Amino acid sequence: MVMADTAEHVQMQRLAIMDVSPAGRSALFAELGEPAWREQQLRDALKNPAVRSWDDVSSFPQDLRGKLAQRHAFLAVEAAKVRIDDGGRTISVIGTLADGKTIETVVMHYGKAQHPRTTVCVSSQVGCAVGCPFCATGRLGLMRHCTPGEVLDQVRLADMLAREYGMHPVTHVVFMGMGEPLANLETTVDVVKRLVHERGMSARHITVSTSGVVPGIERLMKEGIPVTLALSLHAATDDLRTRLVPLNAKYPLDLVCRKVEEYAAKTGRRATYEWCLIEGINDTPVQAAALAKLARQHHAHVNVIPMNRIEGSPWNGPDAAGVDRFVARIEKANVTVRNTRGQSTEGACGQLRATYEARRFQLPDGTLSRPARAKPSPREQDSQ
Ligand code: SAH
Ligand code: SF4
Repeated sequence: MVMADTAEHVQMQRLAIMDVSPAGRSALFAELGEPAWREQQLRDALKNPAVRSWDDVSSFPQDLRGKLAQRHAFLAVEAAKVRIDDGGRTISVIGTLADGKTIETVVMHYGKAQHPRTTVCVSSQVGCAVGCPFCATGRLGLMRHCTPGEVLDQVRLADMLAREYGMHPVTHVVFMGMGEPLANLETTVDVVKRLVHERGMSARHITVSTSGVVPGIERLMKEGIPVTLALSLHAATDDLRTRLVPLNAKYPLDLVCRKVEEYAAKTGRRATYEWCLIEGINDTPVQAAALAKLARQHHAHVNVIPMNRIEGSPWNGPDAAGVDRFVARIEKANVTVRNTRGQSTEGACGQLRATYEARRFQLPDGTLSRPARAKPSPREQDSQ
């Protein structure tokens, strides 16, 4: 037991290798008396989803693997719970970070033989400060930001799991898990750049979803990396939006929509509005009319996501007929319904079933509860 605690403590001290800069890695190999080309070998190993621990880095001698393992974690996120849904097309992960805090990552496969697509939905923060009342993450408040390595390693972990469960490797990354990516701006910008430059991803295959952090959108524009931007709109009048997305008090609708349109014009892509549909709250004729007007005015595409119920909230998504009624009211706008029900985590990722499940094990400080840690079940499968 003492050993386990000590091991945990050591784990907390170790910076993940993805959080060590190229210069830091060079210095590390120099300090260990290793040739400079070890760094290229390391880069190759970090890209290979078959390599899951220092022990698997077969290009390194055994003693070097041991020395590196003492100093740096090979992966910043450890899969504490893995659940398979949708007949093997969705993998939901509760990941433990070095300090014991947990985040959620969801891997989704869209099966078209000629164009296989695997999307990983990553968390950018542990908790979130925005506090949207329909969101399980918002209820936690902000515990801390994720480091770049913690976000990038969710993508590496997704590749490892995709390989293990026979899915195509990750082709798309969406920042729709826990947290507000543009409130952890430096990390998000760094991660996007590294996905593009180190992993070779197209920026168009990366979607950043935001509740409307205007300076963050401006920064993305300045960086000139054309990621896809999704605005979590949820309400088309300021009074309701401030209730549903409290950040609206700081960056109101008109400002946010104009900024998102500016971003879309700059990147040459249509803006996307996310609309978490809540029965009796934002599914009214007044909201539908205001949404249709906004979407037309700003040339936006609307994604309607029926709200997934969260513990302790009286709110819920409408039934299928209610969704159809709402969509019919905004039919002149460009709209897609993302049906999250029965398809578990698809759509809003961390906020859906995985979140609900995770909360059962999560303590108020964001760590997993003792019973879950004392008896870890690394691969829990669930075919629900
Ligand atoms: N903070 C960012 C990104 C993470 S949330 C944002 O708000 O955009 C990702 C998406 O999940 C958002 O569109 C959010 O509104 C949605 N979401 C949150 N809780 C939900 C719930 N209970 N049901 C359905 N969608 C939800
Ligand atoms: Fe934060 Fe997004 Fe949840 Fe709102 S919906 S609380 S911004 S994670």
